[in-house]
Amino acid sequence: MVVITLQRAKCIGCNYCVEMAPGQFQMSKKDGKSVLLHATEKKGFFTLKSHDDTIFEECSEAQKACPVKIITTKKI
Ligand code: SF4
Repeated sequence: MVVITLQRAKCIGCNYCVEMAPGQFQMSKKDGKSVLLHATEKKGFFTLKSHDDTIFEECSEAQKACPVKIITTKKI
């Protein structure tokens, strides 16, 4: 299983995560911040748990590309 988190409030809207992992991230037209698709929110952290291990690589690239380091990607 792959677990991705996004600390959304700190997003600066640079769009890199969308470029790296367009299937998982999308920019919000409302506030210009990144949205982690299908995620659940708890205390400002958005978490997506997926059984699709093929998304791990692109989400790792998004994690590396994020200038404010608010994306984490783990395999559990
Ligand atoms: S890469 Fe980071 S700062 Fe840039 S839009 Fe994505 S979450 Fe926000």
